[in-house]
Amino acid sequence: MKNFDIIIIGAGPGGSVAAKVASENGYSTCILEKETLGEKGRYKACGGATAWELIDEINYPEDKIGRVIESLELHHVDGETYSKKGKGAVVWRSTFDKFLTDMAVDSGALLKEKELMINIEKVDTFYNISTNREKYTAKYIIAADGVTSPTLKLLNWPFFKSEDLILTITQEMKTTKSNIDKTLGHDTVHLFFGIESLIRVGYAWLFPKTERITVGWGNQINLVKNSREEFRKFLELPFVKLALKNSTMEIFKPHLIPVGLRSKLYEDKVFAIGDSGGIVDPISGKGIPYAMMSGQFAIDAIKTCEEKDKLDKLGSIYEGILDNKFLRVLKAKRILRDKIFQSDENLKKFLSLWENHRSSVIAMKNLMDQVSLYEIY
Ligand SMILES: Cc1cc2nc3c(=O)[nH]c(=O)nc-3n(C[C@H](O)[C@H](O)[C@H](O)COP(=O)(O)OP(=O)(O)OC[C@H]3O[C@@H](n4cnc5c(N)ncnc54)[C@H](O)[C@@H]3O)c2cc1C
Repeated sequence: MKNFDIIIIGAGPGGSVAAKVASENGYSTCILEKETLGEKGRYKACGGATAWELIDEINYPEDKIGRVIESLELHHVDGETYSKKGKGAVVWRSTFDKFLTDMAVDSGALLKEKELMINIEKVDTFYNISTNREKYTAKYIIAADGVTSPTLKLLNWPFFKSEDLILTITQEMKTTKSNIDKTLGHDTVHLFFGIESLIRVGYAWLFPKTERITVGWGNQINLVKNSREEFRKFLELPFVKLALKNSTMEIFKPHLIPVGLRSKLYEDKVFAIGDSGGIVDPISGKGIPYAMMSGQFAIDAIKTCEEKDKLDKLGSIYEGILDNKFLRVLKAKRILRDKIFQSDENLKKFLSLWENHRSSVIAMKNLMDQVSLYEIY
């Protein structure tokens, strides 16, 4: 038996940040990760789009960036396009996740790779955790094991509603830098929408990386009839066909994105962070920064409650911090998402607003419902 204050299951961005903050605060911390990390390790299906502020904040080295991005091109299949400016980056998740896990290890967390958590149960005030290799105990559990969270499943937490899950397909296409620069532009990511004729609730994308294009498609899972067929339809769009001409497929991978919260994010010293809690932007599917922040806030909640000897407040403190920082906005975006995908008219209104406003501003200021002077007269 190996005993820890905190065991974190999953070394994605959420788990690694939680481990870093926990170790820095003096908690004995262990991360259990079923895969091998690093460039030669597991592939994670993800666009890897990241705001420049995050790259700056963690001092992510420029030579590890897949591509620096300056603009976003929003295509409606009707032919209308909308452009949005803003600096960001696309990263390879294997490299990015390893960078964060290394920070956690440097802070003193113990990383156990290739350790698949297979059982967890509470005995008195501790959790017993079994992996394919060892047994552990911990006072606190951080479920950072992604959307399907085996941890929360074993603890009988309710799963997501089907309208809160997006089924995605990702394809990595090997091509040349000059082809990317010519067809997509050297610093532009492309998103594709169309409720009637492309994707009912969701979107598809082309993200340029160094010499590869990450091709993705995602639709609300209960509306998907034949995912491969729907994905193929996207690949047939003339713009997409041209960009992918002469490229070769290296990876094809389906994965889920949660776009609504779990019915609870805390119970009995277990915290759901990142995708395991559904802490993701419901409109864009962006989850990396929210996983990282929720990892930090789970540890902040433990620290605050231990210092004040108020362990019965762990759940309300954790959810309170999340709410204050960004959860209120994500909840408003979840409501906005339903409105956006009600009709192509609403979708186009959103895309034109999105050109000049952050989606959080559109959601919080209810911009979709504001009638313009043009409409009145
Ligand atoms: C197709 C696609 C595109 C996306 N594009 C973007 C994007 O461009 N930008 C963005 O910000 N977000 C994007 N996301 C969302 C983003 O990938 C997630 O929100 C983010 O990875 C969540 O991080 P996490 O730490 O919560 O979980 P994850 O990154 O999913 O990590 C979970 C970890 O747990 C491990 N694990 C699982 N089960 C066990 C077990 N039993 N034992 C031990 N370890 C286990 C897994 O191996 C994994 O490493 C995308 C998602 C998808 C599917």
